[in-house]
Amino acid sequence: MKNTIDLYGLTEKEMREAFKAQGYPAFRGSQVFKHLYEPQTAESHSAAPASVFADMTDLPKAMREELTEDSRISAELPQILERQVAKDGTCKYLFGLADGEAIEAVFMKYEYGNSLCVSSQVGCRMGCRFCASTRRGLVRDLTAAEMVGQVLAAERDRGEPVGHIVIMGIGEPFDNYENVGRFLDVLHEPKGKNMSYRNMTVSTCGLIEKIRAFGDDHPTVNLAISLHAPNDELRKKTMPVANRYTVAEIVEACKAHAEKTGRRVTYEYALIKDVNATKEAVSELADLLRGTLCHVNLIPLNEVEESEFHGITRQEAEDIAAYLTAHGVPATVRRSLGRDIDAACGQLRSKAELR
Ligand code: SAH
Repeated sequence: MKNTIDLYGLTEKEMREAFKAQGYPAFRGSQVFKHLYEPQTAESHSAAPASVFADMTDLPKAMREELTEDSRISAELPQILERQVAKDGTCKYLFGLADGEAIEAVFMKYEYGNSLCVSSQVGCRMGCRFCASTRRGLVRDLTAAEMVGQVLAAERDRGEPVGHIVIMGIGEPFDNYENVGRFLDVLHEPKGKNMSYRNMTVSTCGLIEKIRAFGDDHPTVNLAISLHAPNDELRKKTMPVANRYTVAEIVEACKAHAEKTGRRVTYEYALIKDVNATKEAVSELADLLRGTLCHVNLIPLNEVEESEFHGITRQEAEDIAAYLTAHGVPATVRRSLGRDIDAACGQLRSKAELR
């Protein structure tokens, strides 16, 4: 495994270099790169899983065979272990990886196109108490190729393009900063997926050093912060990471980010009954964020099994959004997709592990 080159983790330039290093002319790298991202129907994908190179007919036949047989070169997509399709078109995947680990991704249909919620790690070590993904800690980081693979595997399975991604699946993306950055850059490649950075969103529980770096490295990618509380005392009740960074520091870093990039930061706020959905907490949130370039995304809590946390009604959430907006902080309630399936992060993987 160690010396394997995973083609889905490379930019076009890197692919050219990799092919050159294997003794091929560099332009062969560009040809293969283009092929890997060509739209494919579900049938053509499932018909030729044995070798991704077999259909690359502009490569010499001998080269196709060499590539297929070369154990140092890998171009595998995650395997679909389980698929749940909701009435609204939302499709949740349990993907199996080469080493037997499993992760989740969710395909969602919006008016502006299809979006995929992507995982960035196997498990997570942030320990948020309302979240199903973190219960058994972190197993390992995902490679960039495994993240790109989620997008391509979902596209091929749906037979529809994915135009947007949000890194809101299992894991903390800024705890896997380099691979996540590489994933975004590979998706952006003009001759590959050619996805605009503006169609990508990274969601973090607020690792400050990485928020700062991200504004320099990826100024046009959307940044979402899982705030979930207006003060440290309340945040510590649900998020252990609040012991490392204060709410004031996070908001400060986000203000600087918005100034540097000119882009609005999204604050995510999962509404938990009697914890952070109270009148006091919401009014404190308005005071905290008023005057900053931001948007609050209120998330109806997905109740996970054996959790002491409970959600509030949709109407109560809408009332909170209206209150925040009227008090100078634009807020909306996240549309709830896939209600009839286990669409909350980590739930499918947890269930699979229990079997
Ligand atoms: N680790 C990243 C991304 C993962 S989750 C982060 O913390 O942002 C994406 C969002 O879903 C986060 O805002 C997370 O706090 C939220 N979330 C996790 N569990 C949830 C649940 N049970 N109900 C509602 N939102 C949840």
